[in-house]
Amino acid sequence: MKRIVLLGGGYGCMKILTTLIDNQLPTDTHITLIDRNPYHSLKTEFYAIAAGTSADKDVRQVFPIHEQVDLVYGEITAIYTEQNRIEIDHSEELIPYDYLVIGLGCEDNYHGIDGAKQFTQSVQTISKARQAGHTINELKAYGKVAIVGAGLSGIEVASEIRESRPDLNVRLLDRGASVLSAFDEKVQQYVEDWFHKNDVEILHHSNVEYVEKDGVCNNGECFINDVTIWTAGVKPNHLIQTLPYEKDRQGKVIVNDYCQIPSQENVFVVGDCASSSFSPSAQLAGKQGEQIGEVLTSIVYNIEPRKPKPIKLKGSLGSLGKSDGFGNMYKQPVTGLLPRLAKSGVLWLSKRH
Ligand SMILES: Cc1cc2nc3c(=O)[nH]c(=O)nc-3n(C[C@H](O)[C@H](O)[C@H](O)COP(=O)(O)OP(=O)(O)OC[C@H]3O[C@@H](n4cnc5c(N)ncnc54)[C@H](O)[C@@H]3O)c2cc1C
Repeated sequence: MKRIVLLGGGYGCMKILTTLIDNQLPTDTHITLIDRNPYHSLKTEFYAIAAGTSADKDVRQVFPIHEQVDLVYGEITAIYTEQNRIEIDHSEELIPYDYLVIGLGCEDNYHGIDGAKQFTQSVQTISKARQAGHTINELKAYGKVAIVGAGLSGIEVASEIRESRPDLNVRLLDRGASVLSAFDEKVQQYVEDWFHKNDVEILHHSNVEYVEKDGVCNNGECFINDVTIWTAGVKPNHLIQTLPYEKDRQGKVIVNDYCQIPSQENVFVVGDCASSSFSPSAQLAGKQGEQIGEVLTSIVYNIEPRKPKPIKLKGSLGSLGKSDGFGNMYKQPVTGLLPRLAKSGVLWLSKRH
């Protein structure tokens, strides 16, 4: 019996699971997928949960049902790669594997800033995004919201809250001279203009020194806030730090062309936990997942796996509320309704699959 264990039911491991099932599992192969939630969470939509503009049910999907697949719901508390075993909820009964895929995503990076973890809301897990949504929607008229970080997720959170609650005072703290540093200048300007038109204050060159229960202190000035949302950086899941393998400067595991750990080839790493020359994204996790799915298919059929081709990404898309957006498509900057429709289309397709 070949036992494959998938840690996390995110974009990466979902793709691996569906690829393996689509390729027909040999009868001597068994898969166990472990996640804390009994559904696949569509993390790219968590901004809409935080703003209260999407229903919870719209951002989750059921896992596929298959007689050779076990779905285990619990908190993964340790990964013992020397013993080929996984611990869940600190239980003494460990789950054994022959092949392991680690796809546990990322979590907030607070960069050691005092009060940031304690006093800010997060959009990094569905549960935290729900909590943020509850807090924001409970705000009294003209409440004050600050979003720290003006990358893709910060922009989506800020614009969606603006659209959802026109009465709120929304402020975006951006470390750089312009929002969305990873995007083209045309996109940056379009998004800045959208925020000006929609009365969202942007503070460039921000340097948050500390966060308090009711405020943020930035460049020596403290602002009173009712809610502060942290979107100022991520790091790989904390369990990655416990693994005795080489990592890059961001703490992600270095993998080979097959997404395997070079010194431990029965262990694969996917998505936000794996070192890559690309920025972390659901799209990248899905592409890597597809490749790992093919490599594992060869392994379970006792065939020498083919070396995966270099990954090519189509670009990225972001939303400014429900009817405006931006992105890079095939290396071209795009703004307005088209990228917003394309983003909805990508979501629709991924749900349908
Ligand atoms: C607001 C926001 C907007 C985004 N927008 C985009 C976008 O437009 N396009 C894009 O490509 N990317 C976007 N991203 C990034 C994208 O969501 C991630 O890069 C992607 O989810 C990574 O996929 P993954 O498979 O590595 O992990 P994830 O999809 O995060 O999955 C990790 C899984 O592991 C589970 N898990 C974690 N720890 C444990 C544990 N200890 N025990 C049990 N289960 C555990 C989680 O429940 C989760 O199901 C966005 C992110 C955010 C926060």
